[in-house]
Amino acid sequence: MRRHRNVKIVATLGPSSSDYDTIRALHEAGADVFRLNMSHGIHEEIAEKHRIIRQIEDELDSPISILADLQGPKLRVGVFANGEEELEEGAAFRLDLDEAEGDAGRVCLPHPEIFEALEPGATLLVNDGKIRLKVTDCGRDFAQTEVINGGTISNRKGVNVPDVVLPLAALSDKDRADLEFVCDLGVDWLALSFVQRPRDVEEARELAAGRAAILSKIEKPSAVEHFDAILAASDGVMVARGDLGVELPVQNVPPIQKRLVRRCRAAAKPVIVATQMLESMIESPMPTRAEVSDVATAIYEGADAIMLSAESAAGEYPVEAVTTMDNVAREVEDDPTYREVIEASRRAERNSVADGIVAAAREIAETTDIKAICCFTQSGTTALLTARERPRVPIIAMTNLRGTARRLALTWGVNCVMTGELERFKQAVLSAARAAREQGYAEPLDQIVVTAGVPFNVPGTTNILRVAPCQESLIYASEPG
Ligand code: ATP
Ligand code: MG
Ligand code: MG
Repeated sequence: MRRHRNVKIVATLGPSSSDYDTIRALHEAGADVFRLNMSHGIHEEIAEKHRIIRQIEDELDSPISILADLQGPKLRVGVFANGEEELEEGAAFRLDLDEAEGDAGRVCLPHPEIFEALEPGATLLVNDGKIRLKVTDCGRDFAQTEVINGGTISNRKGVNVPDVVLPLAALSDKDRADLEFVCDLGVDWLALSFVQRPRDVEEARELAAGRAAILSKIEKPSAVEHFDAILAASDGVMVARGDLGVELPVQNVPPIQKRLVRRCRAAAKPVIVATQMLESMIESPMPTRAEVSDVATAIYEGADAIMLSAESAAGEYPVEAVTTMDNVAREVEDDPTYREVIEASRRAERNSVADGIVAAAREIAETTDIKAICCFTQSGTTALLTARERPRVPIIAMTNLRGTARRLALTWGVNCVMTGELERFKQAVLSAARAAREQGYAEPLDQIVVTAGVPFNVPGTTNILRVAPCQESLIYASEPG
């Protein structure tokens, strides 16, 4: 589906967005990627959402990316008899191993290792740090706490224990089962929570065995510390500000976000900025000025994608939240300052033929009246490199591999079009021109840039750049072979 912006929008699906009509409305409003959070919802629900997304993809004949977010070693409370409870400042609240449903006085925290490690005086943070509990007494299977900062606590909210170092394996048994399930189902991206070292990414990659690309969520101090090695091992990154702002002082998050976004772009790997982008829209149809500014900042910084979490999963205005992001994105990308910033921050290391070709394609598009850059790609690499250049004109990625097309839906500015098997370069030019015309990027007398690797079907061989007309008779007249 043609968008009038380059940054991509990721929408988390949940109880507010689980039926066909809503998911379709989210996609039409601008959601390019759907996130399925494996922390919430059973496999049947996940499979149903997956089925609906693929149906919409089929109906609209345009690739949609699905990102399955594995819970990772996240600590979470159990469930409440009423779904949620209000915790008042000063009240007593108990956490224990009893699996019975919780109430205003207690809830299950099914992690014996926490109780082993806790000491009186320790702080527990619930729901991305919104609720703060101080341990007053604890034993092998419980912790009695005092509510320091109150708020609403609800089913399966996350818990952080910043004072205590817990021995955490990267992938729990649940994660392994979830990974197998979603890979079988057919998702495009696997997001790994609480990555701490490159080894965590490699482990998931082995298990996924090529069925999905791997995205590392940066939400631990150790991930920030080892970021370069983690980036090298990953296909993409999420700046997961929720837990990051709990694990580190919250004021550390903006500079980390800026640095990570720049490094990802330099490495030509997509980066998502996530969490609380339009948080007030969970309950209100209007965002705050500060939220609008936060969304705009991520776009100015050059992020590939911006994400909605609870706003689209559990909020009252999921479609409005996507529309808000879409409106902000169009306005920012129209701003001459945006182009200045994006161009000033172009820092590509160039050492291959493909690097040279994508830079040349961008230069030609800047120098002359070119309507689109069409790149033929199998692994997706050429499209990623083209996107790194952040050209002024649309990028059309032409591929015969559906998985590549879907994965690229997360990348800045990339529009994917499926092609058949190609044998000759003339066929490639014809199909690129057709795609540019059909998608409304070019008229017959306009020109486009086409990049490709010949012979076809050999990955990593981008070696041709052609400036071509869009009219078939002109292509036949000018194109040899
Ligand atoms: P993570 O740390 O992985 O981001 P999270 O608990 O913060 O986990 P999000 O997907 O970021 O989850 O936020 C969505 C919020 O919406 C959750 O906190 C939860 O309260 C609510 N929710 C309820 N059901 C679902 C669901 N099926 N999918 C996603 N979110 C859900
Ligand atoms: Mg979250
Ligand atoms: Mg998280």
